[in-house]
Amino acid sequence: MLLKDRISIVTGGSSGVGRGIALEFAREGARVVVADKQEAPLRGKYHETDVTTPTVEEIEKLGGEAIFVQTDVTDESQVERLIEQSVRHFGGLDILVNNAGIHIPGGAQDISIAQWDQVVGTNLRAVFVATKLAIPHLKGSEYGRIIQIASVHAYGGGAGPAYAPAKAGVVNMVRDTAIEVGEFGITVNAICPGYIETSLQDYLTQEMIDAVAEKTALPRFGKPRDVGRAAVFLASDDAEWITGASLLVDGGLITGT
Ligand code: NDP
Repeated sequence: MLLKDRISIVTGGSSGVGRGIALEFAREGARVVVADKQEAPLRGKYHETDVTTPTVEEIEKLGGEAIFVQTDVTDESQVERLIEQSVRHFGGLDILVNNAGIHIPGGAQDISIAQWDQVVGTNLRAVFVATKLAIPHLKGSEYGRIIQIASVHAYGGGAGPAYAPAKAGVVNMVRDTAIEVGEFGITVNAICPGYIETSLQDYLTQEMIDAVAEKTALPRFGKPRDVGRAAVFLASDDAEWITGASLLVDGGLITGT
């Protein structure tokens, strides 16, 4: 097991990519705090249409240990409580995964300024807040890891004027934080997924899904597990000298665009 007894927090862990990461962490022996606004998994129009079991229950079925802490990551007092509760329950913190994120489709003339704030608040500001509040605890770990879930859209436009800049901000924040916490042996990396089979993709039409799959070198959407395995690697001892990096997990989507 690559993460035996490591204590991890996965935000947005009830559904989609976060659930995939939480399950793979548990398979590798990690203890997982699932932090999300609600415990029930989201069900998508195309993907995850029949998911019903909460992540914690699924982890317990695997013989793992997990707790759910209801958290809105945009509220710093809730994030503070999440971290305190996690440390108190499991006795420390080794791995923080900032995965919770939202996407509001539409261009600059479609989305409101309040929606822009909402997307950047969740996808960038909240990543900073959880990272800031977790670092003092990660300093006490021999295996401190911060993994930020960005996106291929960090490298190009096309996902709206809030989502893409927020994800680009995450990629650069990773580099900055890596420098700051390197002396404590904490690594900080991003994963940049391509299109993954989650309910976040409900806004697409079937034609758009087919077109994306077609221009992907490995021609399919990713699965939450694909991102989960990359996160396991970055959290494991195998990645102890990798920091400030952004790992594309996109099936070769942007190599061809
Ligand atoms: P989903 O919408 O399937 O799941 C996101 C989860 O995060 C949901 O459980 C959602 O809960 C939760 N969440 C949203 N806002 C908050 C909040 N403020 N506080 C706590 N939890 C919250 O999305 P994905 O799994 O697809 O996305 C996960 C991450 O991966 C995001 O950062 C996204 O940008 C990134 N990503 C996804 C890609 C994809 O193709 N799916 C591609 C590239 C990146 P609720 O809905 O109840 O609010």
